[in-house]
Amino acid sequence: MQVFKFGGASVKDAESVKNVASILANHKKDELLVVVSAMGKTTDRLMEVTNHYVDQTGQAFQALEGVKAFHERILADLFGQPTHPIFDEIANCFVEIEWILEEDPQDSYDYLFDQIVSTGELVSSKILAAYTSFVGIPVKWLDARDYIFTDNTYREATVDWEKTEEKIRRDLPSVLDEYVVVTQGFIGSTSENFTTTLGREGSDYSAAIFASCLHAEDITIWKDVPGVLNADPKWFDHTELIPELSYTDAIELTYYGATVIHPKTIKPLQNKKIALNVRSFLNPKAPGTLIRTTNSGLSVPSFIFKVNQVFIGIQPRDFSFIVEDNLSHIFNVFHSHRIKINMMHNSAISFSVAVDDTGKNVDALLADLEKRYKVTVEKGLELITIRYFNQETINRVLVNKEIIRELKDGYTCQLLVKKI
Ligand code: ASP
Repeated sequence: MQVFKFGGASVKDAESVKNVASILANHKKDELLVVVSAMGKTTDRLMEVTNHYVDQTGQAFQALEGVKAFHERILADLFGQPTHPIFDEIANCFVEIEWILEEDPQDSYDYLFDQIVSTGELVSSKILAAYTSFVGIPVKWLDARDYIFTDNTYREATVDWEKTEEKIRRDLPSVLDEYVVVTQGFIGSTSENFTTTLGREGSDYSAAIFASCLHAEDITIWKDVPGVLNADPKWFDHTELIPELSYTDAIELTYYGATVIHPKTIKPLQNKKIALNVRSFLNPKAPGTLIRTTNSGLSVPSFIFKVNQVFIGIQPRDFSFIVEDNLSHIFNVFHSHRIKINMMHNSAISFSVAVDDTGKNVDALLADLEKRYKVTVEKGLELITIRYFNQETINRVLVNKEIIRELKDGYTCQLLVKKI
């Protein structure tokens, strides 16, 4: 069996939904499970609804109207007159958000985020399932929350693999014999049946969970790029497609920030030796990139750029050494503010990191660190990671740049730089 994952860009309007349906039509005879993300930028828009609600700005309902109108337009373009039952089904999903918004916010932000934002995936999967069935594909819509079980770490839930695998393996194979299954990425549920999410961009990970539990032959992530490229075309004029990649290289690239695949996706696939294809939904016949067990290294050096980096230097105020107790305290502070370290370096009396400048979050982190350490901050930097670097590739990215910090290991070089 196979698992397909379609992200938000692949279902951003009616034309895109029709394109996905045509890809599925070519595979309807296969055993196929389809994982879909929220349409277009719906997750961001629903996050704005949540923020308005939690901050009680009085604009939450208005923000929600925008999300409803966006989906209503897609429905009208797909089905014409609102006689198909999907119109009511989608309206009912949004009514559930309205019920939340009518009450005063009592619960934690993270909990409310998951209850509201998860609607994006529920409505996109319902619309995709309704449309594919409308065009004659035997489809069954399933609620991923009945299969993916997690703890209650809202917004970044941890999967209970044992329970999840047992349920998926028990119930899904017979459904897959008869239908193309359409379900949601990104969401799961706690043992008390509350909705959780697996972290932003987590739909790839959902697809990997289903693939791993079902021992899929392979999984395909359909993107708006031809496959895994050796750099983001945003930064490089001449990018190259990487036709084949080892799991290890794919894990390293995503760990250092290549956004093409969610970092948590690859490990479960590697453990079961399930191949991962990254292909273009705009050109579905093209082969894209194949990630699997292979001994060959990357065919070309790969570049990962992260802008808007803050460099934070941390020194104990009493000039004690940076050893286990300080380090464990520092890591805890980062963890409690949910700030991911992109680069780190330590010496006897200082520890320095580069992180994404996420504004308020980073300010709160710095305030916490300053309680115990002398902290220096430099903003507006870029972090460039080169996998399979050589001097020529380093020179290429350093034009008009000054190095603030450089780290190299066997295959990977990280350069934190400032524009000059
Ligand atoms: N819709 C979610 C997000 O935008 C999950 C995903 O797209 O993978 O983060």
